[in-house]
Amino acid sequence: MSQNPKHIAILGSTGSIGRNCLSVIHNLKDRFSITYLTTNTNIELLQNQIEHFHPHGVVVLDETKAAALQSMFGDSVEVLTGREGLLEVVRRDDVDLVINSIVGFAGLKPTVEAIKHRKHIALANKETLVVAGELVTSLVKEYSVHLVPIDSEHSAILQCLVGEDWNSASRIILTASGGPLLNTPEDAFASITVEQALNHPNWKMGNKITIDSATLMNKGLEVIEARWLFGLPTERIDVVIHPQSIIHSMVEFVDGSIKAQLGMPDMKLPIQYALTYPERCPMNGSHVDFPKLQSMTFFAPDRKKFPCLQLAYDAMALGGTAPAIMNAANEVAVQAFLEKKIPFQRIPELIEQALAKQKNHVSPDLEHTFQSDHKTREYVRTLL
Ligand code: MG
Repeated sequence: MSQNPKHIAILGSTGSIGRNCLSVIHNLKDRFSITYLTTNTNIELLQNQIEHFHPHGVVVLDETKAAALQSMFGDSVEVLTGREGLLEVVRRDDVDLVINSIVGFAGLKPTVEAIKHRKHIALANKETLVVAGELVTSLVKEYSVHLVPIDSEHSAILQCLVGEDWNSASRIILTASGGPLLNTPEDAFASITVEQALNHPNWKMGNKITIDSATLMNKGLEVIEARWLFGLPTERIDVVIHPQSIIHSMVEFVDGSIKAQLGMPDMKLPIQYALTYPERCPMNGSHVDFPKLQSMTFFAPDRKKFPCLQLAYDAMALGGTAPAIMNAANEVAVQAFLEKKIPFQRIPELIEQALAKQKNHVSPDLEHTFQSDHKTREYVRTLL
């Protein structure tokens, strides 16, 4: 972005990414101002954020909570509600850049609406690209906006590609920490508890993405996300386990040269880069200490122990709405696991069943994508 956008709307400001975004923006407050913040239900934290950042308006999805917040602030801040409220704020003239850190498929509609109103996008909601990557990237071109990834792996790839001819990239190597269950033997998977699966060694994140890290579905989603962001076919996107999470991803070029982006695992770095891209700004935080680190290790992911990774490659090979079917089944299954309704290993089984049974629309429009999502959710719920 040659001219930095000034006015920012953060969708999902009370989540893990949203809170990190506000911390980054707090340190760059002469460059950015917050005009809108949104939450599902967390009005206690939103209240603090309003007092600190003075947005023009906020969205609270829950109507009762929205009314409670409005009575706290009176006329000093506009309180909108519901999914329509999210679509309303991304259309407004006092927004230049939308940070989308909503969890899951629910992030798709606001992203599309924002692009159609010529807002730049900093995207943490990877599901947007998983379910509708082709449509969204073509809209980005049509409306001449920037869509910059916040996901640390994709930020790393973008940083490796800056100054390069993208056609000379021959392979993307996505690194994966391996998640909380990397060293858990497969025969213990039947009794994995929610608490074990939520105990990520390197990254502190929200519940949905942490379970996705435990199944390696997160990496599968990221393969698809990379395919749409950088235009390489999935056959040329590899995954390597790198438990230290220091190399955030790599790009190999046609001459065999490989560039990597390194840093401590801290989401503030990719967030700040997405906001100031292609500029860099100073940032407080810990730095990589190589003598202390001593070694970095790499190995191939175990696709038998973690079938979700292979399911993502399979869904991409099927094309059409298969990635949307896979994503919907995963969202329902992860929620059911978090609610202790199904065991951990049932997650990939449910996705596999959904991919086998749900109708794939081969060249989908947005409506097909919504249908596939809706029908898959209904179907998977009948299997629980
Ligand atoms: Mg990531």
